[in-house]
Amino acid sequence: MTAQTHPVEFGRYQTSEQMFNRAKEFMPGGVNSPVRSFGSVGGTPVFMAGAEGAVLQDMDANQYVDYVGSWGPMILGHANPKVLESIKMIADLSTSFGAPTDRETALADHIIERHKAVDMVRLVNSGTEATMSAIRLARGYTGKKRIIKCDGCYHGHVDSLLVAAGSGAASCGIPGSAGVPEELANLTTVVPYNDLDAVEKVFGDYDDIAALIIEPVAGNMGCIPPVEGYLKGLEELCKANGTLLIFDEVMTGFRLSYGSAQELYDIDPDITCFGKIIGGGLPLAAYGGKKDIMQHIAPLGPVYQAGTLSGNPLAVSAGVATVEQLNRDLYATLEDKTKQLVEGLGSILTNAGIPHASNRVGSMFTIFFSEKAPQNFEDVQQTDLERFKKFFHAMLEEGVYLPPSAFEASFVSTAHTDELINFTLEAAQKAIQKIK
Ligand code: PMP
Repeated sequence: MTAQTHPVEFGRYQTSEQMFNRAKEFMPGGVNSPVRSFGSVGGTPVFMAGAEGAVLQDMDANQYVDYVGSWGPMILGHANPKVLESIKMIADLSTSFGAPTDRETALADHIIERHKAVDMVRLVNSGTEATMSAIRLARGYTGKKRIIKCDGCYHGHVDSLLVAAGSGAASCGIPGSAGVPEELANLTTVVPYNDLDAVEKVFGDYDDIAALIIEPVAGNMGCIPPVEGYLKGLEELCKANGTLLIFDEVMTGFRLSYGSAQELYDIDPDITCFGKIIGGGLPLAAYGGKKDIMQHIAPLGPVYQAGTLSGNPLAVSAGVATVEQLNRDLYATLEDKTKQLVEGLGSILTNAGIPHASNRVGSMFTIFFSEKAPQNFEDVQQTDLERFKKFFHAMLEEGVYLPPSAFEASFVSTAHTDELINFTLEAAQKAIQKIK
């Protein structure tokens, strides 16, 4: 497949529209995860038919260069031959045993080998499960109750963490969530991202803080890197206060570098959550950390956590086949490619006189329509969200699939060839005529 689109014409998304109307009758909002509904950009979500490499094809046979990558997992592009082969090979044996397999140990080994802060892992099925379990483990280990999280960071739809939770909720205009008991929400203290003083103050106010959970590079309010010294400062504060530092690397893990964000910023978190890439596009996630902490999990310890499909053979195989392809050279290439793309987009916007700022770490990036690069969620909310909507739709019409929300990060994969990056830049050149 190469990216090309039908000329803009009436009925271009006709099949998607029909499918969306039918889906809305059977599923809330017609989708199984809110951001997919295009709620914050308007219009009809595009229903997908297939994908290969970095190109998606929808049900109306429009093709798009994909910068969503299934929200992060597809670092090798879609339908990666080795990943497909590994899934097919295992599927012939069984789709689920509910008993241990050696592949699970192989995946655990890959995770541990790359992360010096991780001695043991537990595999689960989603990022939400990983963060939920990490919080329970931190509470069980420390005997404390309170959690600190950052405004705009999303850690899955865990009750304690659905407070000021960025992307999905923000895209729907929901600050928290109905259904979360006040008693539980009160145990979560929210601080602005990139503000060490705010965290210090919370430690002054409370002495029962079990964990501070953070996206080391935020991705759920668009891509926002930590300011110099921020993560180190958090590490020191947590250590000094007997609080566990949880790195939520569900998005950044295996994405930003060989050893994830913790290697890039040289931090030693107590617990790390993984997801997305480690399942190669199948439902799989994990949490891991130091041995003495992880040994508190059942069956070794008193913190209970389990799963019928945990360590599912198909997902584990896809994960192993994915991470085995991710070597250090590949991260360097990915970074170069992403830099080329982001700088190219920046020049196009500069030449058109459109105020913008780009944040990028490795192969994760966001172009914000604002003069200044945002450093926290409040900054992001002040960017030009209307212009983002127009840009999103204009790019879609030109054959480029960006995340349908200004509060989400974009991802580049190894399947984004120079040709596809040039195609994207040409598309942007045309798209900006519609957003000036
Ligand atoms: N943590 C982070 C940083 C995430 O980006 C996400 C999902 N976008 C999650 C947790 C939740 O993962 P899942 O959707 O697999 O439950």
